[in-house]
Amino acid sequence: MSIQTRIQLVQGDITVQRVSAIVNAANSDLLGGGGVDGAIHHAGGPAILAECRLIRSSPDYRAGLPTGQAVITTAGNLPAEYVIHTVGPIWYGGYAGEAGLLASCYRSSLHLAAEHKLESVAFPGISTGIFDYPKPEAAAIAVREVRAFLAVNEYPRTVIFVTFDDESQRLYQQELGA
Ligand code: ADP
Repeated sequence: MSIQTRIQLVQGDITVQRVSAIVNAANSDLLGGGGVDGAIHHAGGPAILAECRLIRSSPDYRAGLPTGQAVITTAGNLPAEYVIHTVGPIWYGGYAGEAGLLASCYRSSLHLAAEHKLESVAFPGISTGIFDYPKPEAAAIAVREVRAFLAVNEYPRTVIFVTFDDESQRLYQQELGA
């Protein structure tokens, strides 16, 4: 299968996606929050938070999940099997390593998906809400990192970008040449 056919674009709510894993734009404390994080915990129920708390109790994550890294939990009551939680960078103007950290979010999440041999992974626009990352630059990084990863990895077989607003949908269409 070509890289182009392994990438899909859908506009809508990520919590209803029937995929192996949906990615959560989490906060470093992993205790839930607003935006897509709130929607995922609300729809998935308490099992997700319980596993996040368990992860936080391990010595590696006492201080929280570092920006750019990812962990995987159950998806609770969601139609997906897993939630991959990653912490995007807060936008400080572009001179605080934001681009590298955002790229790292996509790579870390995809690594977990490959490790678990997941068929399909759905990504929201990490950092493009409350964390204020400019949407055009974020879409370019997302598409570049996913393409690069799929080019050299068998899993995940499919990646779905899930956009919420019309502007993001247009930006991903442009990036994907769709
Ligand atoms: P961050 O704190 O990383 O910026 P947000 O949750 O505020 O995370 O926003 C990330 C992106 O997810 C934004 O583009 C927002 O519009 C989008 N979003 C919010 N809710 C949903 C949802 N239910 N499904 C898909 N995308 C969503």
